[in-house]
This record gives sequence, structure tokens and C-alpha cells, in this order.
Amino acid sequence: TREQRWLMRVAELTDGRRLVHLVDRSLAHAAERIRVDFVANASHELRTPLAAILGFAETLGGEAGADEATRIRFLGVIMKEAQRMQTLVDDLISLSRIEAEKHRAPDDAVDLRALTGEVTRVIQDQPASRDRTFEIEAAGELPPVAGDRAQLSQLLHNIVGNAIKYGRAGSPVRIALAPADGGMVRLTVEDQGDGIDPKHIPRLTERFYRVDSGRSRAMGGTGLGLSIVKHIVERHRGRLDIASVPGNGTTVTVRLPAAP
Ligand code: ADP
Repeated sequence: TREQRWLMRVAELTDGRRLVHLVDRSLAHAAERIRVDFVANASHELRTPLAAILGFAETLGGEAGADEATRIRFLGVIMKEAQRMQTLVDDLISLSRIEAEKHRAPDDAVDLRALTGEVTRVIQDQPASRDRTFEIEAAGELPPVAGDRAQLSQLLHNIVGNAIKYGRAGSPVRIALAPADGGMVRLTVEDQGDGIDPKHIPRLTERFYRVDSGRSRAMGGTGLGLSIVKHIVERHRGRLDIASVPGNGTTVTVRLPAAP
């Protein structure tokens, strides 16, 4: 019946023995549910900016298009919505690439200190970070990480980008790099911001999960950043921990295996 948890399949082998295969249907159902939700969410997220683009383009084709100021304003909206779609599609492509590579162990020896420097310089140049500072503290003896350089760069972009997006105006972002137990290298990114209510923390790495959708969208977020981070950490056989004090700030810690 539908309610039965276990599905049993029995196959008779040529030598007369029987092979019994037990399938946990609740797990199969959960995986199917996640897949269906993901497709529904992704379609919805793409449809919203698409509807805006079509609506504004149609209006521009009518009488409103004759007015210069209106034309400039509407074209601005169309650009912004198209950029949102592009960011979303880029994140979806990243997710599927990382998932496709999950069984291939990454093997570059990555200098996380240099990579952190590069990523923070790029972020620092963006308008959203104009009033923000980075405090980077790296241990002298920092071993390289066994990793995929492009993916670790994306991981840093997403975590540090969140610290900028959700941190208080003018507050610093602290980044620390140090060797950790078990042959690992530890990266911590700490912001001073509104923080996150503990009840949301276990769900933050789900695709499209946002604490405050309006705020995330206004900041150009897709809701996929931390889910990409989780997949990258898993591919590297690392660990991700998120700790937060509401009203105070958030600390994201990633542990990655050092290169042999
Ligand atoms: P988004 O694109 O919405 O930022 P993420 O997957 O990166 O998506 O993060 C999921 C949600 O987690 C965000 O919408 C936000 O609510 C919350 N979040 C992530 N990082 C932080 C942070 N440093 N401080 C407060 N909230 C955060």
C-alpha cells in the first residue's frame, strides 16, 4: 500500500538462491519531493523577473514609449530584472556542475590566504562594500588546502558576500585562517549584523531557503548561495558550521582538509 515504508523485491538467482532487495520508500519519496520542489521553485524564481520584463517591454512599445524619461526608467527596470535572471541561471549552472563533479576528488593545492586576498579585493571594489572594511588574520604556518580553486573562490565569494549583504552598514568583516585539528584548515567569516534566529540555521543550506525573502531579493540574493557552499564543502570532504547571535552577528566556519 502507499503507506508501507518498505518495498521488498525478490529475485531468483540461477543457482536457486534468492536475492532480497529492500527499498526504503520514505527516503525515495523525500528525494522525489525535494526534486519536484526544486523545479517548482526555480521556475517561479525565473518567471517573476520574466513577467516584469515582458510587461515593461510591452508598455514601452505603446504610448508610454514616446516619453524619454519613462523610456529610460523602464529600460532600467528591464536591465535590472534581466540581470536578476542571469545571476539565478549562473547559480543554477554552478549547482549542477558541482553536483556532477561530486565523486571526483579535487586535487589543486590551494593557498587559501592568497585566494582570500583576491576575493576580498574584488568584493571591496563593489558599490555595496564601499563603507565596509575587511580584517584578515592568517596563521603564519598555513598549509595549502586540497581543493578546486574555482570552487573555493566561489565559496569565499558567497560567504563573504553574505557578510557584506547582511552585516550592518559601516561594520567590519573579520576573516581568520588557521590550521585546525585532524589535518584541516579552518576559515571563519564573522560579521556584525542582525544575525539569524537559531530556528532557521538548520535550513539555510536548502535551495531557495531565505529568512527574509524581500531583503534577500533587494540585495540581489538568489537563495542559492549557501546551498552552493554546502555542496562545495561536501565535495571537499570538509565541514560547514553556522553560528549566530540574533541582533549581534553571524559566524560561518568552514573546515577543509589540508593538501597531503
Ligand atoms: P541569499 O542569496 O538569499 O543570500 P543564501 O543561500 O546565501 O541566499 O543565504 C540564505 C539565507 O540565509 C539568506 O537569505 C539570509 O536570510 C540568511 N543569511 C545568510 N548569511 C547570513 C549572514 N551572514 N547574516 C544574516 N543572515 C544570513
